[in-house]
Amino acid sequence: MKSSLILLLALSSLFLPQCRDQEGQGEPSQSGGGESKGQTAVNDMTNLNEDQEASASENPKVDYGALSDEEWKDRLTPEQYYILRQAGTEPPNGEVYKEFKGQGGGTYHCAGCNTELFKSDTKFDSHCGWPSFYDPSKAQNVKTDVDFHLGYARTEVRCAVCDGHLGHVFSGERFASMGGGQTPTGQRYCINGTVLKFVPNEQKSGVE
Ligand SMILES: [Zn+2]
Repeated sequence: MKSSLILLLALSSLFLPQCRDQEGQGEPSQSGGGESKGQTAVNDMTNLNEDQEASASENPKVDYGALSDEEWKDRLTPEQYYILRQAGTEPPNGEVYKEFKGQGGGTYHCAGCNTELFKSDTKFDSHCGWPSFYDPSKAQNVKTDVDFHLGYARTEVRCAVCDGHLGHVFSGERFASMGGGQTPTGQRYCINGTVLKFVPNEQKSGVE
């Protein structure tokens, strides 16, 4: 029991979304943990670009709080389930992140419930390896909570509608991409790209 807890802690520290971009030390270490899980977390955002119309019109009246684990597993990919429902973290600098960096104007929606979470005009390059935004598009659509998964307090970011885990928010960091200063809000929302559905602006008709 105790050893598995230690193993869990050790594993999660490999994926710890910690990156300080001060003085150009922003490269997150890839210390061997990335390869096993990284290969499976591909193309979610790419495919969704094409399939967005269908998923966007999904029944918005679902009672997400009432869904069982099995129902969530049916609705999500294994990677999305691991992150949204088990507070997992995707490996940094994976395919999903490369897709994210190449995306233009649009909005980012929760893979669990399709709620709009972020807009592309608040994304910025944190050199972190995970999608980074400095502000949610609608404050009421995200909520925060303190977690101690790594043995110290971090502010977890969750979807306010389906309660899915999205990532963490950090404050007071400085970034080279911000001219060495802080973001306009002083915050970095460090979000798992696997659980974001990108809707390009030109496809946005009918999506709320
Ligand atoms: Zn959600």
